[in-house]
Amino acid sequence: MTKSTFHTHSRFDDGQEELETYIKAALEKNFQVFGFSAHAPVNFKTSWHMQRECLAEYIATTKLLKKKYKNDIEIYTGLETDYYDGCTDWRPKRGIDYTIGAIHFLVDEKSGRCMSIDSTLEDLKSTLKEFDNDIHALIKAYFSKIRDMLLKMTPNIVAHLDVIRKNNYNNAFFDEDDSVYREEILKTLEIISLTNTIVEVNTGGVAKGYVKTPYPSKWVLEVCHDMDIPIILNSDSHHPNNIDFYYDEAITMLKSIGINKQRILYKNEWCDVSL
Ligand SMILES: [Zn+2]
Ligand SMILES: [Zn+2]
Repeated sequence: MTKSTFHTHSRFDDGQEELETYIKAALEKNFQVFGFSAHAPVNFKTSWHMQRECLAEYIATTKLLKKKYKNDIEIYTGLETDYYDGCTDWRPKRGIDYTIGAIHFLVDEKSGRCMSIDSTLEDLKSTLKEFDNDIHALIKAYFSKIRDMLLKMTPNIVAHLDVIRKNNYNNAFFDEDDSVYREEILKTLEIISLTNTIVEVNTGGVAKGYVKTPYPSKWVLEVCHDMDIPIILNSDSHHPNNIDFYYDEAITMLKSIGINKQRILYKNEWCDVSL
């Protein structure tokens, strides 16, 4: 097994600790590959994205660490990028090795208001209100935005695909067997397959206690397996203690489906390695 994660936050955004602290933790836990993915700067004020003026220092620090630890671990520089009208395309940015594309919010076309998808329960409720409490309308808007992103600004990896279930404890808002929900997921997987994007298996929601299983749900991963869509195991950690949180359980679950490999950047190439 090639132990890795490509989804990591730090003091540069809404995570904690210096980048090097993560590398020290990764070495202790026998990682061979480690990727940083700060929330890419956005065009408006938030508390959780990296500030634009910090980007150069972020990239430079990752490159310094890459050099310093080159005999011990492979280090890559990524960004978790939000997709919205007018967003920056970070893919060609010098020094950026990969992007993880995410939809954390939708922007209301009329008011310009930012409507959160993956924040608190209260935030989800107020987002739903903007959709006249029509959960199907919200589900459709969320997945159609992901498909837009995949087609117009294809990232290497698609982040936490079904993060919309983050606050869906006890099916408070929807049932995953709901045909509209399933249809939206299946349509999105078709575009993922078409655009050669990697689906991330994200244990971050489990680490934070929001969900009991990684994103996306097992049935979604079964479809990925059927469609030959590659996956990548990521911890989405915001603290060095969580860089491999729930990895053993996730690997067991993936193997039970028949998924025995993941697609990662390894020796500077995207390639399949065994789980
Ligand atoms: Zn995210
Ligand atoms: Zn993240």
